[in-house]
This record gives sequence, structure tokens and C-alpha cells, in this order.
Amino acid sequence: MMLVLCDYCDSKTVVIFCRADSAKLCISCDQYVHSANALSLKYVHSQICNNCRNEPAAVRCATDNLVLCNDCDSDTHNSSFVASSIHARHRLYGFSGCPLP
Ligand SMILES: [Zn+2]
Ligand SMILES: [Zn+2]
Ligand SMILES: [Zn+2]
Repeated sequence: MMLVLCDYCDSKTVVIFCRADSAKLCISCDQYVHSANALSLKYVHSQICNNCRNEPAAVRCATDNLVLCNDCDSDTHNSSFVASSIHARHRLYGFSGCPLP
């Protein structure tokens, strides 16, 4: 697995993908950077894909305990004919994105 470091502190593993500024941040920097800014409520944050750590996660698989981007989700679950029906997957939304259906 590729190790991707936080854009901001360059020392911790990336966990959050901020779409507004295309930043990949660790948890502490995400809080630090955006808590200082009232506009941060409008930022859409996603967890970063646990597999490639390069895309915002779109799906959470409770079975694997992973969050995955669309590409990695199809790689992981469509390659195995059992996975997509047995694994408990939920579509993820940004922390402040579209209202949940
Ligand atoms: Zn950081
Ligand atoms: Zn991915
Ligand atoms: Zn799965």
C-alpha cells in the first residue's frame, strides 16, 4: 500500500480529502486548518480511500472495514462474484455535502 503523507504537515498519514482545495490531510491538520475558518462549514470533506489514498472515498465496506473510492470499490468488489452481494457496503457522502436521502 502506498504511503501518502499529509499535504500540510508532511509527516502523518492522509485520512481526509478536502474537495474544496483538493488537499489531502491528516486528522489533526484537517481540524486545525478548517477550525480556524468559519467558511470551513461549506467545505466538503471525505475520508480518503484506504486502498489508493489518492481519491475521496465513495463507499464504505463494513465487511472489510475499509472506505474506498469508486475505482477501488469496483476493483475490490467486482473482481469477486461473492463480494458485492455479501459485503455490507454503504455509499459515503461528504461531511457537509448533499443531504442524505
Ligand atoms: Zn497533517
Ligand atoms: Zn482508491
Ligand atoms: Zn468489501
